[in-house]
Amino acid sequence: MEAIEDIVIVGAGIAGLTTALGLHRLGIRSLVLESSDGLRTTGFILTTWTNAWRAMDTVGIGDSLRQQNNQLFGLQTASSSSGLPTAEIQFDALGTQRGHEIRCLQRRTMLETLANELPSSTIRYSSKVVSIEESGYLKLVHLSDGSVLKAKVLIGCDGVNSAVAKWLGFKKPSFVGRSIIRASVYYEHGHSFEPKSFRYFGEGVRSGVIPSDDKSICWFFTFPSSSKNEEMEESPAKMKQFVLGKLGKIPDNLRAAIEKTELDNIVLSQLKIRPPWEILLGNISKTNVCVAGDAFHPMTPDIGQGGCAALEDGVVLARCLGEALRDKQCMSSEEEYKRIVRGLQSYAKERRWRAFELISTGYLLGYIQQSNGRVLNFLRDRVLATFLAGLPLKMASYDCGKLRAS
Ligand SMILES: Cc1cc2nc3c(=O)[nH]c(=O)nc-3n(C[C@H](O)[C@H](O)[C@H](O)COP(=O)(O)OP(=O)(O)OC[C@H]3O[C@@H](n4cnc5c(N)ncnc54)[C@H](O)[C@@H]3O)c2cc1C
Repeated sequence: MEAIEDIVIVGAGIAGLTTALGLHRLGIRSLVLESSDGLRTTGFILTTWTNAWRAMDTVGIGDSLRQQNNQLFGLQTASSSSGLPTAEIQFDALGTQRGHEIRCLQRRTMLETLANELPSSTIRYSSKVVSIEESGYLKLVHLSDGSVLKAKVLIGCDGVNSAVAKWLGFKKPSFVGRSIIRASVYYEHGHSFEPKSFRYFGEGVRSGVIPSDDKSICWFFTFPSSSKNEEMEESPAKMKQFVLGKLGKIPDNLRAAIEKTELDNIVLSQLKIRPPWEILLGNISKTNVCVAGDAFHPMTPDIGQGGCAALEDGVVLARCLGEALRDKQCMSSEEEYKRIVRGLQSYAKERRWRAFELISTGYLLGYIQQSNGRVLNFLRDRVLATFLAGLPLKMASYDCGKLRAS
């Protein structure tokens, strides 16, 4: 006989673990199914903005992570065609930026911190979900090892290639015609970068550097590409050579950082999004199933908000489910099912426009910053530079609220 679980979460990434931890803080147990045999801690640093720190505080991991990660104090942009600065924003300056908190976090540190706060039986590794089936008020969750779980609630936090999003009727995310090369660099005796995010635009490419702590930095380079970068994909040496040849006028310390990068620390990825109209028209939830994180709203990394939005999703989803399942002991199965469906609908309603806004803003910002037309370049570097540089902060001002509706 199949086991019955109240809440099954597919995927132990940022979205899945934050949802599980939010529920745990409300005294609600969930089971997280993860296809890998451990936490997938690969990947570099994430820029975590004010909205992410609010969500991390809400689930109770903010303070321990603050102690381990330096704060960034500004964002500087410059033209890589002219080499001249275009905008600078101080995060701690008086005015609209006051109160912002931006730090870089290793993805690994965030996932391990979330996982360590959960009861030990919450995550089940080597458990790949392959299909989903209806069974009355329950969902049957089929795993690749042939086992089946029955779930009262099924939450897809299974990333860009989500099986749950597919079940809900979403198409595969679309390639946006750009790719990104990223890398991290370690300096044994410390680096020379100020604690700021630096970005350079021009000649159809975009590059930048973010110091993650006193000894390591992360750089990125986005460029127009076809859906396959076959020549480079297999060769980090070619990636590095390609970047060095296209950088334009950037500061010497960034060029030196790229030259110094170890080849096994360079990664190339295609940029994909869920088109904003699919977010508006699609089923973020259907019956007792919903999606969160990249499974819901894959976006370009231009405003550094994918992981932050996954944290927000986790808090909102835990709150909506917490409300739905309050006093569930006195409910019939039918009443419980109806309340779960309504809870997930509230979550979808609360998150739809936020996801739409984040995907659209990231896409447009990336498009303008990477453009190579004379008019757009003029607008980007002379007219709109401060406005564009401020957009990530505008997106970061969001507050996803607390775990209990007041
Ligand atoms: C180049 C780049 C730079 C970025 N920079 C930033 C940044 O600076 N700041 C920021 O906030 N975000 C950034 N992001 C986005 C961020 O990395 C993602 O939005 C975030 O990791 C999404 O988390 P998630 O939990 O939704 O998905 P994932 O991290 O993809 O986790 C999904 C999990 O589900 C598991 N899984 C998948 N399928 C199944 C299955 N069938 N059964 C069981 N388990 C399954 C996977 O193994 C994985 O562990 C960046 C992304 C990219 C590509």
